[in-house]
Amino acid sequence: MAQRVYNFSAGPAMLPLAALEEAQRDLVSLPGVGASVMEISHRSKTFQAIIDQAEANLRTLLAIPQNYRVLFLQGGAQMQFAMIPMNFLRGSGKVADYIVAGTWGKTAIKQAKTQGEVRAAFDGQATNFDHMPSQDELQLSADAAYVHMTSNETIQGIQFADEPHVGDVPLVCDASSDFLSRPVPIEKYGIFYACAQKNAGPAGVTVVIIRDDLVQRCPEDLPAMLSYKAFAEAGSLYNTPPTFAIYMVKLVTDWLLRDMGGLGQMAAINREKAALLYDVIDASGGFYEGHAQPQCRSMMNVAFRLADPSLDEPFLTQAAERGLEALKGHRSVGGFRASIYKAMPVEGVTTLADFMKAFQAQRS
Ligand code: PMP
Repeated sequence: MAQRVYNFSAGPAMLPLAALEEAQRDLVSLPGVGASVMEISHRSKTFQAIIDQAEANLRTLLAIPQNYRVLFLQGGAQMQFAMIPMNFLRGSGKVADYIVAGTWGKTAIKQAKTQGEVRAAFDGQATNFDHMPSQDELQLSADAAYVHMTSNETIQGIQFADEPHVGDVPLVCDASSDFLSRPVPIEKYGIFYACAQKNAGPAGVTVVIIRDDLVQRCPEDLPAMLSYKAFAEAGSLYNTPPTFAIYMVKLVTDWLLRDMGGLGQMAAINREKAALLYDVIDASGGFYEGHAQPQCRSMMNVAFRLADPSLDEPFLTQAAERGLEALKGHRSVGGFRASIYKAMPVEGVTTLADFMKAFQAQRS
């Protein structure tokens, strides 16, 4: 097998090796089919079994209640930034509340503004997006169409520990960067969605978990491609879906159930991996500085910088020499970001933590 690096990319990100190897083994011919999964009709029995199993796996992993649909859509998470207000804000006569705690919340509210009236129930800009709001910091409208949140802000490396309380208003969550990383009480959400390319598969498919009553509320005057109802009624097969990406979601969720023992265990491993890095930052006496306020630290994206930015270049070069790749932070935050989604092995994080300690010893 070709040498693989420890890839800390924020997304598309590492996939479980077992899932990649299974895809590789069956790429040219699915067992018993004699053709690649990419070459068969999305309306064939074989593909129907694959999409059904992907959905069943997600339902088991997240304990999704029966009154929710699981949809496989295209257009990435950002298509959801448009579809949500198109389906539930436009023409509602209501305002939509957005929790703007980082770059993705900011992008989501900007898109929603094209469809109707929006309000920022929280805006973290003043503190450079270093924390998720506490309940006291939220200013919710009396009768909003919905409240939109981002459970994990990928760029700033901050994460909600629990759901905010929003009363009877549907809570809509962009969970793109912490999907399937921990158990989630889906019943607290109206819509829970995630693009696949960080935690669940390759780019090209977005999983949308949506409550039945919201599906029924979708307006009839939308183009079908933008309507949750059209996709729910067609079992996600309104048009040709991203068949290969859905197949990969099946393989990744098979792996989560079979090899990782579900999301409870996955969350424990994720906590352990994140602690390895935050411990190095905390013990560094200011050599490394974390971006997030400690109570909001992300288990998925560890954003940090060197107190002395002139060391940035040598840090990245020496990291790469040890097979530690894609650590450069997003240009809006600077410094570094280690994305440690589920497929990043503990050894990858240990290697990075050891390197960070050695680099500090060498430079101070
Ligand atoms: N939301 C979050 C939290 C993300 O991390 C990303 C991906 N970087 C997006 C939305 C955008 O996803 P996509 O590129 O699939 O539209």
